[in-house]
Amino acid sequence: GAPATGAPEVAVVGAGLVGCLLACFLARRGHAVTLYERRPDPREAGAGRSRSINLAISERGIDALRRVGLDETVLKAALPMPGRMMHAPDGTLSFQPYSADGRRAINSISRSALNRTLLDAVDAFPGVRLRFRHRLTTLDPETGRMEFDTPGGPAAAVAPVIIGADGAGSAVRARLQTRPGFNLHQEYLDYGYKELTIPARAGDFALDPGALHIWPRGRSMMIALPNPDRSFTCTLFWPERELAELDTPAKVERAFAENYPDAHALIPDLAADYALNPIGHLVTVRCEPWTVLGRAAVVGLIGDAAHAIVPFYGQGANCGFEDCVELDRCLAETGDDYAAALLLYENRRKGNTDTIARLALDNFVEMRDKVASRAFLARKRAEHLLERALPGRYASRYELISFSTVPYAEVERRVTRQRRWAAVAALAAAGMSAWAGATLRNRLRPEEPGPPGRG
Ligand code: FAD
Repeated sequence: GAPATGAPEVAVVGAGLVGCLLACFLARRGHAVTLYERRPDPREAGAGRSRSINLAISERGIDALRRVGLDETVLKAALPMPGRMMHAPDGTLSFQPYSADGRRAINSISRSALNRTLLDAVDAFPGVRLRFRHRLTTLDPETGRMEFDTPGGPAAAVAPVIIGADGAGSAVRARLQTRPGFNLHQEYLDYGYKELTIPARAGDFALDPGALHIWPRGRSMMIALPNPDRSFTCTLFWPERELAELDTPAKVERAFAENYPDAHALIPDLAADYALNPIGHLVTVRCEPWTVLGRAAVVGLIGDAAHAIVPFYGQGANCGFEDCVELDRCLAETGDDYAAALLLYENRRKGNTDTIARLALDNFVEMRDKVASRAFLARKRAEHLLERALPGRYASRYELISFSTVPYAEVERRVTRQRRWAAVAALAAAGMSAWAGATLRNRLRPEEPGPPGRG
């Protein structure tokens, strides 16, 4: 039902993936939520079908969606990817399952379809008001006064609780940043990305849809995820300067023929597709505090606005969804006291989001370089062997990040512990085999004359 009179009033800025899911959680608590979004409603006729851009959703995201009853709807439109398919320069394919039993999968879903599903869910709560074409321009954290650019001119609103879910370039964060004591660290990768499409071929997928495809090339890398319309969305990562240097159709064609010959053959309008899409940038944002207590208002940050990360662990949205679960839990624990809940949520999440930010950067090196190496493949096989031999006792970092909801920082502690005892076990095994070898060698020396006096 509609929120009761006296229900907490909350303004959420940004109706992207995280803002929408947060609105669902808060509306379910009976709070009066207004969701402000700078874009028009993507479900409106004429909003145009945007290009299919997809993202991988895994257990953390699914767990959050499950809590608001949206997991099945979202997964119905998803394509499961139980492993990665590596494309060698000579076109050789090799498949590596993500999990020891080969059954667990990350899920390729359309970003815009997910956003629309979440907006429909938001609309189903009478307590939520959606305000599209409202771009936040300024905000006073002391009073909770916000100003927006709208098609009808400037508009203002006041709310006692404001949560910035407005993404990596957050306007809410920019307003907090001017205050003393607010620390902001942002780091651009010198890599940019380009999105390209491998269309369906004769009505079918041009590549195996049951995998996340990777072309690791050391200096550059490309990945491709399947779409329900049987196309694939490719994302090409390359040092930004070199991407910009591919400025004629001939240069683009040549670069692809050299580095990605098998994919080259599958993208008929490569040069046009390449020219169409802008170069995307990759940034990591760390800031604190996420919570600012003003005289008459409290302002918090969530999702990419609080912690934008690079996409190489496929965790950005998953992590933002997990933020919503934690904030909801903190509201329950504090009896819906937003100031206390936001501080508690920040306290519990910050170490975890710092950890996944670091792992996402580390994973870039792994994906563009190491996945192709024999040592890496051997390590993955050894990890899966251990996982099968010690179910529940040993789990790889990838499994814990993608297929569990163990907090990110706890995953790191667990991985360190596992490595330590695996090293001890390996040493012990080496010691045992040295001892066993020596014993065997002693036993197997019948030809040698025994010590005097023995048989
Ligand atoms: P956003 O999705 O950026 O939404 C912010 C919203 O706020 C937008 O709707 C925007 O229009 C609105 N807004 C912005 N400014 C204002 C303003 N001033 N006033 C009002 N509204 C405003 N994550 C995964 O989990 N898996 C993946 O596989 C994955 N792949 C990725 C691949 C790439 C190339 C990139 C760049 C990211 C990827 N991510 C992935 C990360 C994921 O996209 C983000 O973490 C996620 O979109 C964050 O959601 P958000 O709602 O916090 O921010």
